[in-house]
Amino acid sequence: MLNEKMIGLGTARSVIRELFEYGNQRAAVVGRENVFDFSLGNPSVPAPPKVNDTINDLCRTSDPVQLHGYTSAPGAPAVRETIAQSINRRQGTHFTGDNLYMTCGAAASLTSALNGLCNPGDEVVVFAPYFPEYQVFIEHTGAEMVLVPADVEAFQIPFDELEARLTPKTKALIVNSPNNPSGAVYSEATVEKLADLLRLKEAEYGHPIYLIADEPYREIVFDGVTVPYLTKYYDDTLVCYSYSKSLSLPGERIGYIVVPDECADSKLVFAACAGAARALGYVCAPSMLQLVAAACCEETADMSVYAENRRLLLEGFKEMGIPCVAPGGTFYIFPQSLEPDDVAFSEKAKSLDLLVVPGSGFGCPGHVRIAHCVPTERIQKALPVFQKLVDLYRK
Ligand code: PLP
Repeated sequence: MLNEKMIGLGTARSVIRELFEYGNQRAAVVGRENVFDFSLGNPSVPAPPKVNDTINDLCRTSDPVQLHGYTSAPGAPAVRETIAQSINRRQGTHFTGDNLYMTCGAAASLTSALNGLCNPGDEVVVFAPYFPEYQVFIEHTGAEMVLVPADVEAFQIPFDELEARLTPKTKALIVNSPNNPSGAVYSEATVEKLADLLRLKEAEYGHPIYLIADEPYREIVFDGVTVPYLTKYYDDTLVCYSYSKSLSLPGERIGYIVVPDECADSKLVFAACAGAARALGYVCAPSMLQLVAAACCEETADMSVYAENRRLLLEGFKEMGIPCVAPGGTFYIFPQSLEPDDVAFSEKAKSLDLLVVPGSGFGCPGHVRIAHCVPTERIQKALPVFQKLVDLYRK
C-alpha cells in the first residue's frame, strides 16, 4: 500500500496552477497578448548581471571537481561567513557563519526549521492571508496549523485573535513580512507588540515559542518602507531566507536559515534543523549557487518594474472603486473581490481573460491575489479589462 497522504498531496488541485494552465490554453486561442494572467508569482525580471558574470568566472577559473562537488551539509564555511557578515552590515546583527545553514530556498528553510522544531501534537500559528504551502509543511511534521484570521483593514496582526489561539502546545509562529499575498509589511509597532506578547506567553507556559520569519520578499519594498529584522526584537527567532525573489533565481534553489546565538537552545535548534534537512534528503544546498549567493548577497535584480506596476494598479483601482490596501512590498496586490464570493469573482474575471487568484486559497475570502510580476504594458492593457469587470457589477 502506498502513502495515501502523499498521493493526496501529489494529486491535489492547485487553483494557481490551474489558472496558469488555463491562461496558456486561452493564449493559444485568442493570442498571448489578450490574456491577462496574474496567477503565478514568478519574478519577471532577470537576475542582476553579476550573477551570470560570477557563474562564468567560476566556470572558467575554478577547479571543476571542487566547484560541482558536495559542500559540508550546512554549506561552505566561507560562504556562510560572507553572508553572515553581510547581514551584520545591513541589519546591525552579530552573526557568524556558524549561525547560518545554507538551504535549497525558502521552502527548504521552512521545512527544515519546522521539522527540526515540531513534534506531533504541537501547534504552529499562521496568520491569514498565508502562503498555502505552510499547511503542507506544518502537517507533514505531525503538528497542527492554527490559523489567525486576517485583519483586513491593514493586514497587520489582530492581537486579540492571536492571543486567543496561543496555548501551551504552541511551538512556533510563522510570520511572512512582506506578505504573500497581501504585500503587507509588519510595522515596528506590530513587531514590538508581538515580541512582548510572545515573551509573556513563554514565561506563562515555561517553554520557548519560536518565531519563524519567512522572508523571501525582504528586499521588494516600496515608498521607503523598512522591514524590521526580527531577531533584534525577539531572541527566539529563526530567519528563513531565500534568493528566489531578490536575485530572481527561483529555479536555482538557494537560501539559508539563521539560528541566532540568543535563540533558546540555539545549538540544539541548529542541530535539529540540520537533522531535519538530512532526513528530508537535502544533503547540501547547490554548491555553485552557494558561491553565487556569497558573491551577490548585496545585489538585487532591477525591481523597478514592480514599483511601477503596483503604482498603476493602485491608481487604477482607486479610480474604479476597487477597495485595496496598498501593499508595502512584494509583487502582489490583494484587492477586495466585488462580491463576497471571491471564487465567483475570479470566475467572472476569467470570463474576460483576466486571471486572478481567489483569496480563499490563502485563508482570506473576499479578496483576490494579483501577481503583478509582468511587463508594465500588460498592466496598462489590463486596466480597461478590470474596468469591464467592475462594470459587470455596477450594471
Ligand atoms: N514563502 C513564501 C511566502 C513564498 O511566497 C514562497 C514562494 O513563492 C516561498 C516561501 C518559497 O520560496 P522558495 O522558492 O525560495 O522556496
